[in-house]
This record gives sequence, structure tokens and C-alpha cells, in this order.
Amino acid sequence: MTKSGILIVPEYRPHHGGGHLCRCITLACDLRASGRAAWLFLPPDARTENLFQSMNFNPQWRITNEEIANSGQIEFVIMDRFQTPREELSRWKKIAPVIGIDEGGKSRDSFDFLIDILVPEKTGVPKANISSVSLLKFPPKPLPQKRPAGDVLKVLITFGQEDSAGLGQKTARALSATDGIDITLLRGALAKGESEYPPNVRVIEAIPMLAEHLGEYDLVVTHYGITAFEALYARTMVLLASPTAYHAKLAKAAGFITFNPRIHLTETRRHGVKANGKIHLTEARRHGGGKKNLQITARDNYLDKLKGHCEELAARYGLDKECASLANLCGGFSPQVHRHCPVCGEDAPVNSVCRFSDRTYRRCKICGVIFMDRNCPPPIEYEKEYFFESYKRQYGKTYLDDFPNIKAEGKRRLKIINSILRAKKSGKDRSLLDIGCAYGPFLDAAREEGFSPAGIDPAQDAVRYVQEELAIPAVQGFFPNSPLPSSRPYDAVTLWFVIEHFTDLKAALTEVKKIIKPGGILAFSTPSFSGVSGRFSIRRFLSASPADHFTIWSPSMCKKALALYGFKVKKTASIGHHPERFPLLGKLAKSKKSPLYKLLLAISKIFGLGDTFEVYSKFHHTPNKCTRERVDE
Ligand SMILES: [Zn+2]
Repeated sequence: MTKSGILIVPEYRPHHGGGHLCRCITLACDLRASGRAAWLFLPPDARTENLFQSMNFNPQWRITNEEIANSGQIEFVIMDRFQTPREELSRWKKIAPVIGIDEGGKSRDSFDFLIDILVPEKTGVPKANISSVSLLKFPPKPLPQKRPAGDVLKVLITFGQEDSAGLGQKTARALSATDGIDITLLRGALAKGESEYPPNVRVIEAIPMLAEHLGEYDLVVTHYGITAFEALYARTMVLLASPTAYHAKLAKAAGFITFNPRIHLTETRRHGVKANGKIHLTEARRHGGGKKNLQITARDNYLDKLKGHCEELAARYGLDKECASLANLCGGFSPQVHRHCPVCGEDAPVNSVCRFSDRTYRRCKICGVIFMDRNCPPPIEYEKEYFFESYKRQYGKTYLDDFPNIKAEGKRRLKIINSILRAKKSGKDRSLLDIGCAYGPFLDAAREEGFSPAGIDPAQDAVRYVQEELAIPAVQGFFPNSPLPSSRPYDAVTLWFVIEHFTDLKAALTEVKKIIKPGGILAFSTPSFSGVSGRFSIRRFLSASPADHFTIWSPSMCKKALALYGFKVKKTASIGHHPERFPLLGKLAKSKKSPLYKLLLAISKIFGLGDTFEVYSKFHHTPNKCTRERVDE
């Protein structure tokens, strides 16, 4: 049975509007149409039958209880629940990675990935991985031509299926006292309250395919939500009123012009409605203080301003261009997430450090490592191209061109390894395994320093080079899953800029422990999140971190993390010093000969601000202590 199903969990309860449910039904249908096995989770009591039929949703795609959902076929879960309780999220996370759409609850940052479509970026909530209004499902373009502007202002009032705050009635009443306005109130099938409306208000219960008809109106009055953006997409002016404080916050953050119909009614009562056909709407100024009256008529230049503002908004959200597809986006996901810290095994922390469109970083509270969850596997293969074209793009020369420099660097590292090993044993025949040996510069240096080296690397061409050109034992494969070049325990195991590439680092470190001699050395180098770049802006540092770096370390966390595997840190060294990356002054330190460059270099070295570092640790053979068992569990 393949694990390829996508489970969609909508908000379905009454008084939450039907928008979430409709969006999820559409998403399920679109995913099905693209060949993905999508399921909709809805408990038996959810009222949906009419919707299923009208939206061409096959009721057999519905799952009604969590046990069935937990059958092992679900690859990931998409939740569109508005505000998900923590316990509920925890249950789904046990089944599969969880992606939240427009999540506004306290558990927001615990979601593996977040897609904001309607939650604007400036609401003060933790950032989403992807934020784009253009992921809404819009009708195909071109939309029907707008009717020519006339003297009569055609207004549509709609506040959803329920409109429990009665905003539709209030707005209709307020506008009905004005000449020159043609009012349609879309009452909503579930709306309660008065049934009598002013005679000049046309009341209807449904407009099928509403999004396709919004362009037939000059102005849409609604609350923050899908319809507001659909109106912008249709080039129709939008004014928003807010049934809740949360709606008001979202509307303001998204840049819409809002008004408060309750205040308006008070104002109308006080001043009366002017006979010249003007509407008084009072703009809600919750945060700015004071109230501002907006006066609108079909001839008023305020409408021109509103029109200009709405066009600007449409452009800001990319609604004037070809829009993306939520089903295409989600259908391309294949998430890889950690439920436990990949180094120490602690439960994965709740809060994220940073989110980007393809990944989420979290930091373990116990060992301090930053680790990455991905919504798709990284598109990198460690083959010839990686060492030639990619390497050249990054460093200006190929890996083989750089061989002598890397080898010289290796000699320096071997001196440190030797100095630590020497305390235990002198002489030759020290064995060394270099994991991720590439074309073997370090192996070559190790042989010259009296080691019996061996290498393992996933790149076939590199391994062939080591075997044939250097005549050093090497195997092609991924540590720790492939057989090693020799079975004896090693005096030293090294990983130069390799440790960050393991998706399951715990398995790798556990295996290192098994193949290293008591008193042997584990040495590695890796990027540091506490170097000058990470300290200046962790977001910028992680945004530039390659897609295949699954763990990010810092020198200060090594002691605790490596102790879990029985290693004692003997030396850490800050390397990768980049004076030009210093905030502010770095820009002025372009030349390596300049005094400023030299000064910043000295500061970087003194305070250990290198963007990479090396660590040398010694394995303490302690079979009676619990460290070995703890990480093996
Ligand atoms: Zn940890």
C-alpha cells in the first residue's frame, strides 16, 4: 500500500461561515482531477450533502472518523480549521505531516508548514511558509466585461451564508435611504433575522458562481474574506465591514478600506440622511482614533479614490496577473518532517525559528541544534555535477582544481587529530574513515601523514577517482546504510562539511559510535549559526542555507550534543571568517589589504565569529554508562 493520500480537514461547524468547507471541497476535487488521492475528513454530523452535490464532490471521497484516517495511507494532512485547538493538531501530527491553511489559532506555529492565503502578512502572527492571495481559486479570465459606468451605483451587499452579526441588513438599511443606488442584498441561505427590507433593496438568497458575477457590480460591500479578493480580481470596488475584531484586524492589515455600519446608524440618526443623495459611511478607525465620515455618491470623486485604491490592492496581491493554484502547490508536496530532534531525540519544539517557502527551521531546546523540515525533498544529487558545475558556481573553480588547497587544509586538520591521538598512542597504522570523501584530498593528506585511510561517498565518479587515481580504498554509498570499505574500528572518523547533510543524523552518529575505537577521534566541520552572518540576521543566514543542510550547529552546542553519543569535545575552531559580511562596516572592507578588513578579520578570529567551524572530539568507551543506551533507544 503506497502512502500517497492527502487528507483535507475543513472547518465545518456552524457559525464559522461556509468558506473553509467550500474551499476544502474545491481543493479535494482539484487534487482528484490532477490524479492525487485526496480525502475530505468530515465527522458524520457535518451538514454537507447539498454542497457535495452542487460542487460535484463524490461522497465516497469523504472520511468520517479519525481511525480510518489513521490507516497509514495518508502522506500529509491539510487543515483549514480557522483556529485549531492544540490537542487536535497533536492528534493529526501523529498521523502525518500537517500543513495549515490560514491558521489563526494559538497552535499556529506548531504546524509543520503554513500557507496563508487570506491571513495578511502584517498581522503580527508568526510568518507563514507561503503567503499569497493569488492561491485563491478565481474564475478563469477573461471575466465578463464590466458594464459601462452609469449614473446609478450598482451595489452588492454580501456577508456570507450566515451573517450572524446582521451586517447585511444594517448596511442595506443604511444605503437604502440614498438616491442613485441600486442595492442587491445577497441574504445567505442560513441568515436569520428580519424578513422585511426597504422596497428599493433587492433581496436574493443565492447567486450561483458568485465570483463570476462580481464584475457586474460597481461596489461590493462585504467582510474580510474570499469574496473581498474575488471582487478585487473582478476589478470591482470593495468596502469592508467587520463582524468580529479579528475580521477588522485582518481587513486593516490587508489594506482594505473598512467602515463600521453600527457607528454609521448612530450617525444617520443624529444627522439624518441628506437629500442630495450622499451616503454617510463612517470609516472604522479603531487604532488611529477618531472617526472619519466618508461621503459617497455615484458622482462623488471619493469613488474615484476608492477605485484607485482597489486597483492598487489588486496589483499588490498579484490579482492582475495569472494566479497560482493551491491544488498544484499542495499536489507537489512530499513533506519530510522531524517529530524529534535529529541530534538528541527530544520532542520537536513548538515554535519555529524561521519559515521559508520550501522549509521550516526549529531549534531544539535541549541540545541547541537548528534543524530543517521540508515540504519537498531537496533537488540535489551528489554526482559529478555537484563537484564541477555547482562547486564552480560557488567557489569559482572545480573541486579538482581546488584539490591542492583542500589537501593543505587537510594536513592542518590532521595535525590537530594527531596531537589528540598522540596522547593515547604513537606510531603508524592508525586507521581513518572520511565520510563524504569526495575526490579524496583529505584521504591523500591522511595517507601522507601515516594513516591508513578509507573513504565513502555517494558520488560514483568521485569514488572511482579515489580508487583509481589515488589508489585508496573507497566505496560508493550513503553512510550509515552502505557497507564500509573495511570492517575494523577506526582511530578517526571525519566528516568535512558533511554532517549537515544527514536527514537522520541520530542514526549516523549512533553508527559512528559503533565503528570508532575507544579513544578515537570524531572530527567534523560545518556551518555555524552563531557566526557573524547568523548573529546579524538568523533569517537571512538560514534563507541562504543550502536546501540539503538539515541540521545547523554552533560551536557552543557541541559539548552537550556530542556527550549524548559518548564523545568529549577536545577542540573547536572558528573558521570561515568573512570581514565583508560584518554589518555596516563589512561593506567598506572590500579589499583584503585594507586596514579595516584586517581589523574585522582580527575581531572575527578573537570572538569566534566565523561562519563555519571545526570540532574535534574523543570517544570515551564507557560501556557501563547510560550514554550509549540513551541514544540507541
Ligand atoms: Zn536536540
